[in-house]
Amino acid sequence: MTNPITSGAQYIESLRGRNLRVFFMGERVGEPVEHPVIRPSINAVARTYDLANEDPELATAHSSLIGRRVNRFLHVTESALDVVMQNRMQRRLGQLTGTCFQRCVGMDAFNALYAVTFDLDARHGTTYHPRLKSFLRSCQEQNLVVGGAMTDPKGDRSRGPSAQDDPGLFTRVVERRADGVVIRGAKAHQTGCVNSHWIVVMPTLRLQEADRDYAIVAAIPVTDPGLTFIYGRQSCDTRALEGSEVDQGNAKYAGQEALIVIDDVFVPWERVFMDGEVEFAAPLVDAFTTYHRRSYVCKTGVGDVLIGAAATVAEMNGVSKASHVRDKLVEMAHLNETIYGAGIAASHESRRTRAGNFINDDVLANVCKHNVTRFPFEMARLAQDLAGGLVATLPSAKDFASEVTGPVLRRLLRGRSPGDAEARARMLRLIENMTMGRNAVGYLTESLHGAGSPQAQRIQIERAMKLEEKKNLAKTLAGVNE
Ligand SMILES: Cc1cc2nc3c(=O)[nH]c(=O)nc-3n(C[C@H](O)[C@H](O)[C@H](O)COP(=O)(O)OP(=O)(O)OC[C@H]3O[C@@H](n4cnc5c(N)ncnc54)[C@H](O)[C@@H]3O)c2cc1C
Ligand code: SF4
Repeated sequence: MTNPITSGAQYIESLRGRNLRVFFMGERVGEPVEHPVIRPSINAVARTYDLANEDPELATAHSSLIGRRVNRFLHVTESALDVVMQNRMQRRLGQLTGTCFQRCVGMDAFNALYAVTFDLDARHGTTYHPRLKSFLRSCQEQNLVVGGAMTDPKGDRSRGPSAQDDPGLFTRVVERRADGVVIRGAKAHQTGCVNSHWIVVMPTLRLQEADRDYAIVAAIPVTDPGLTFIYGRQSCDTRALEGSEVDQGNAKYAGQEALIVIDDVFVPWERVFMDGEVEFAAPLVDAFTTYHRRSYVCKTGVGDVLIGAAATVAEMNGVSKASHVRDKLVEMAHLNETIYGAGIAASHESRRTRAGNFINDDVLANVCKHNVTRFPFEMARLAQDLAGGLVATLPSAKDFASEVTGPVLRRLLRGRSPGDAEARARMLRLIENMTMGRNAVGYLTESLHGAGSPQAQRIQIERAMKLEEKKNLAKTLAGVNE
C-alpha cells in the first residue's frame, strides 16, 4: 500500500506520469496535469484535500471501516448528521471554487452501493458487500478520488440496452472468466474522471431480464489501458491557452467531463459488486439519485459567489442603494436558500438502511434537484441584469494591456470610482464565466441534467406524492363520502 495523500499538492503529484489515453481537440494529451485547459479542474479537486486539512470537522469524518478519520468524500455515512455534513461541506467547496469540485459522484455511489450490495447479498447469497467494503477500505487508507460512472451513451432513448441496434451503447459484460469479467462499452459526461484514481461503473436505468449482461457494477483503475478519455469542450475553455488570467473569469478552478470508452477491460471478481442481478439495477439507480439529488446544494455555494459578484458590480456601478437592485439581490438569495433548504432538510430526514449507513429523504432530495434545474438560470439572469451589457461586450485583457487602447479603456470603462475599470472587468468576467463561460457548464447545464434531467425528478415526486392520502384528507374535511 502506498502512503495516503494528505494535501492538495500531493494529490496533484499523484496524477502525474500516469500515461492516460486522454484526447482533447483531436490530440492526445501528454500530461493532463500540465495542460492549461485541464489544470483548473484538477485544482478544484485538490481544494477538497486542502479543506480537509483546514477544517477537519467539516471535511473529514471518523470511519468505522478503518478506525480513523477519512476524507468525507470517502466516508460511508454512520448517522443523519454525517449526511447533513456532506451538504455543509459541498456548500463550502462551491463557495471556495465557484465550480464543480467533482468528488460527490463517487461519494454518493459508495453510499448507494453500500446499502444495495447488502440487500443483494441477502437475496442471492453473494459476497458483493464484503468486497465493496474491502475496496472502500483501501480507498480510504490511501485517500483516493473515485468517480461514479453511471450514464451510458444510450442511443435510442425509447429502447432498453439489449434492444439497441448497437449493443455498445450501454456498458456490458462481454466475457465471464474464472477470475473475473471483461467489460466493454462507454460512459458519457463523466465528471472528474481524468482526475480520479478509480471509476466505479454502474447501470444507468431499470433493467429487464434480457439486459442481464448490462447489470454490472465494477471498480476500474483510471490507468487501465483499455480506457480512453475524450475530453468535453466547455464554453470559452481555450481562453486558458491565451495566457490571460483576467479573461478566464475564474482562472484557477473549473469542472471536468469526458466520454470514457471502455474497450475490453478485465475486472477481477474482488472488484465486481453486481453481475447480472437485473432486479437490483433500479434500486441502485434510485439510491444513487436519492443521495446525489441533494448533493446539488453544491450549487448554492456557487450561487453565493454569483450573488457576491452581482452585488459588487452594482456597487462599482453606483447603484447598490437602488431599491430594485437590493430587491434583485434578495431574490437571488431567496432562490439560493430555497435550494439549500430542500437539500439540507432531505439530509436531516435521513433514515438508517438495512446495511447500517444513512440515506436522506427521497422526495425532498428530488425537490432540491428540481429547484436546481430552474433557480440557477433565474439567478444567472438576475446577475446579468445587474452586471449590465458590458458582461458580454467587454474588450479583452490584451486591449487593457495595449499602450494604444489600454488608457482609453481604463478611462471609459470605470464605474463609480476613477481607476476601478480593471477591477470591474475582473468581476464582469467572473459573472461571464459562471453564466456563459466555463463554469456555466457546472452552474447551469449540469444543474439541468446532472443526476437526471428535470422529468426524472417529476416522475419520482409523482410516485411519492401520496395522492390518495391527500385526497382522503380533503374528503374528510369536506365531508365527502365515497
Ligand atoms: C455537466 C454534466 C456532468 C455530469 N456528470 C456525470 C457523472 O459524473 N456521472 C454520470 O454517470 N453522469 C453524469 N452526467 C450525466 C447526467 O446524469 C445525464 O446528462 C442525464 O441523466 C441526462 O441524460 P442525457 O444527457 O443522456 O440526456 P437525455 O437522456 O438524452 O435527455 C434529453 C431529454 O430527453 C428526455 N428523455 C430521455 N429519455 C427519455 C425517454 N425514454 N422518454 C421520454 N423522454 C426522455 C429527457 O427527459 C430530456 O428532456 C453529467 C451530465 C452533465 C451535463
Ligand atoms: S455537480 Fe455538485 S454534486 Fe455533482 S460532483 Fe459537481 S460539485 Fe459535486
